[in-house]
Amino acid sequence: MDEGKHKISREKIENPLEESYRKASRRFHKEDTVIPIGEQSFGGQWFQVIAGPCSVESQEQILRTAKRVKAAGATMLRGGAFKPRTSPYSFQGLGKEGIRFLLEAGKETGLPVVTEITSVASLEFFKQVDVIQVGARNMQSYELLKALGQFGKPVLLKRGLSCTIEELLMSAEYILAEGNPQVILCERGIRTVENLTRNTLDLSAVAVLKHISHLPVVVDPSHGTGVTWLVEPMSKAAIAAGADGLMIETHDDPKQALSDGEQSLDPDEFISVMNAVRRQAAFEQRTISTTDCNCS
Ligand code: PEP
Ligand code: MN
Repeated sequence: MDEGKHKISREKIENPLEESYRKASRRFHKEDTVIPIGEQSFGGQWFQVIAGPCSVESQEQILRTAKRVKAAGATMLRGGAFKPRTSPYSFQGLGKEGIRFLLEAGKETGLPVVTEITSVASLEFFKQVDVIQVGARNMQSYELLKALGQFGKPVLLKRGLSCTIEELLMSAEYILAEGNPQVILCERGIRTVENLTRNTLDLSAVAVLKHISHLPVVVDPSHGTGVTWLVEPMSKAAIAAGADGLMIETHDDPKQALSDGEQSLDPDEFISVMNAVRRQAAFEQRTISTTDCNCS
């Protein structure tokens, strides 16, 4: 083994090149950042579970799913309206109408909503969205990051498919440097030699990020593994690694889903994952601020 290489990486974690991401660095901001979202808070002792379908497919589908995940104890609702699909022939999302359906479902259930933006041009449709997601494919779309820095809404920034932890932090810095301190980082798996899972969920990145940055960190075990039965063990491991939240794709009928059905939990599977998540969160003394769900 090349011990020299290991020495360099240990040193990099202890003394990162944080000049390039000084606002994201814990060295200059010791306390965990806590981001208020509606009546919820992201970070610190608070733990959030964001659930919902990959895509908003219809008014009825998002409302049905929202009610099911809310009843199971989810604290926020997700659903893509502007979808960055690998193939241009795949379902591209309902666009601004999808955002409207998502907002209605959020209002009806009392859940704050998270949805992805893919270009600066559609920013005007995101005024009422609680958290704006920047997907893995746009992590380094710097003009979009700068625009979101000026827009001022909380941003959930996903790690790029082949990006390093420091590149993620420098992308966060683009938003912070524009004066928007509300950035949530998201580990969603990276490309490695492994091909049994869709991506390799890098849970060490969670502990590293919490060590060198004060920003909240969310884990997405759905895109991170691409396999429904891996969502529960990876969710538990994410909480143990120090994550501040989870993003879990859940569909009321995954077989009919227009995107990512194979990795989406059905409502019963989500209930069972939530039970495990609640146990693990209690063990780590994290608070899941669930209100009026059918859960203990
Ligand atoms: C998503 O959240 O639906 C998504 C497209 O995720 P990612 O950007 O991580 O692939
Ligand atoms: Mn998806």
